[in-house]
Amino acid sequence: MKITKIGFAAALLAAPLWLISCGAGGKKDKVGIAMPTKSSLRWISDGNNMVKAVEAKGYQTDLQYADDDIPNQLSQIENMVTKGAKALVIASIDGTTLSKVLQSAADAKIKVIAYDRLIKGTPNVDYYATFDNFQVGVLQAQSIEQELGLKEGKGPFNIELFGGSPDDNNAFFFYDGAMSVLQPYIDSKKLVVQSGQLGMKTVGTLRWDPATAQSRMDNILSAYYTNKRLHAVLSPYDGLSIGILSSLKGVGYGKPDMPMPAVSGQDCEIPSIKSIIAGEQRSTIFKDTRELAKVAANMVDATLKGATPEVNDTKTYNNGIKVVPSYLLKPVLVDKTNYKQVLIDSGYYKAEQLQ
Ligand code: BGC
Repeated sequence: MKITKIGFAAALLAAPLWLISCGAGGKKDKVGIAMPTKSSLRWISDGNNMVKAVEAKGYQTDLQYADDDIPNQLSQIENMVTKGAKALVIASIDGTTLSKVLQSAADAKIKVIAYDRLIKGTPNVDYYATFDNFQVGVLQAQSIEQELGLKEGKGPFNIELFGGSPDDNNAFFFYDGAMSVLQPYIDSKKLVVQSGQLGMKTVGTLRWDPATAQSRMDNILSAYYTNKRLHAVLSPYDGLSIGILSSLKGVGYGKPDMPMPAVSGQDCEIPSIKSIIAGEQRSTIFKDTRELAKVAANMVDATLKGATPEVNDTKTYNNGIKVVPSYLLKPVLVDKTNYKQVLIDSGYYKAEQLQ
């Protein structure tokens, strides 16, 4: 076969790129991707999108899920280090437990990207790809504010608060963002928390477990609402929202004489979108995991090529040892009015999936 001049020049140009993502002997460099759990669709999409985005850049991937079990995630990451990964992308279960394994990663010159959740208490995390987590909480609370007409001076209303997992740094950002909107109404008594349960120490939900949220909602309803009406529930994640909604339905909410409280959420999980369409859950938050994967894959590629990846925040995410340079994507509030446009028109879901 005759090699044309143009073809030869193109091959020469392509060669350095190919050499960079291939180790000795032409084998592709490996990127370890550690995800927390398959119990929620978002992390499954995150994992699939990461594999696609990283492989498109010419790397091999090793994707692992840890069933929300900390020792399991630790040993998966240890394995990735031993098996010669050049970079690790980690969505941690408990962001404070990885210091030791990340020290061995640093000793082996492996680059580390914290994916969606900040990794804390270690200098050995290079970059952080996430969403504007404070803004997530703001949007959740604004959907409640809007539903209740608080800005128009309506009230007082009863609200109960749920937080995410206290070992996930994001949970504090979501809660603080939400409280930046809700606290003034609590202070002016337009919102009343009948249980008195406030603050992440009290309202946190370990491992984001829906059953824990459901039983806490059951307890609150029977202790404080037997002769009072609940009007809103701040919920930070769709899985919890579905548990909370079933507790509410269990005591009769969701009927014309007992309307469903305004319940927020996050992640656009299919059961929650269906619930929104059915008029139960009030809202959720869309975090486009396709975009997050692209950002994280760019970080991997740039750091492995010795370049500086694009970041847009170098102040917010202090992990206790250093401020981790971050790229924050924008979350979008989704409710009955815009779910088609945001989720279907963008190709995130197919219409049939939501029927
Ligand atoms: C993520 C949320 C998710 C939650 C539970 C958080 O770290 O940012 O999107 O709802 O974990 O999986």
